Amino acid sequence: MFDVSRSGLAGTSIESTVTTLHQIYLDADAAVETWKDDCAVRCPEACGKCCEGFEPDVLPAEAIYLAAILARDGSALFDSIDFTSSGKTCLFFDPENPFHCRIYEGRPLVCRLFGYTGVLDKNGEVSFRLCRHISSRGERIFGEAELRRDFGALPPVMSRFSAMLVSLDPEGASSRLPIRVAAPLAAGKVAMLSRYAGLAWPPSPAIPLP
Ligand code: SF4
Repeated sequence: MFDVSRSGLAGTSIESTVTTLHQIYLDADAAVETWKDDCAVRCPEACGKCCEGFEPDVLPAEAIYLAAILARDGSALFDSIDFTSSGKTCLFFDPENPFHCRIYEGRPLVCRLFGYTGVLDKNGEVSFRLCRHISSRGERIFGEAELRRDFGALPPVMSRFSAMLVSLDPEGASSRLPIRVAAPLAAGKVAMLSRYAGLAWPPSPAIPLP
């Protein structure tokens, strides 16, 4: 469980962003669990294919949250990642890790909802695309009427959670960056704030201070 008081960010200018975002993430995780219970859809054991060939773009607040997790845990993980490497797969993907993600607790919204979220169609109705890696019959799209009939419930809607993130930091809404770019920038900011607060996260040489 993330505790901002142990992250070196308590009392800093970004404490409220981190604590509010934490609650949004908890709500998103809970909504996914509820939908999983309703629809009985499950990712195949040890799949992780959604992280291969994919790199999320993140909002500044999401990058700060991720950096706060790194600050809490120390900079060893940060130092172990080569942010200058190129490639289409997310830098935090690790097939050996049980979650396939080295920053699972700090992963951004799209990663929390992927595979278990719906979208709004042009009529404002919810539709749900079954991941092609989940269904042996390939990708399948359910409309709202079908969802209600077959599952008696609707999945969480990605855009509703995205709107909550944007309302948290409207100015950052147009500043989404690939996670490999956003994470080091946010880490530098968090390291600087931690240092000013006299708290633990000794800036690593790898972390560029702003
Ligand atoms: S942050 Fe984690 S869950 Fe998201 S794409 Fe990267 S490895 Fe996958």
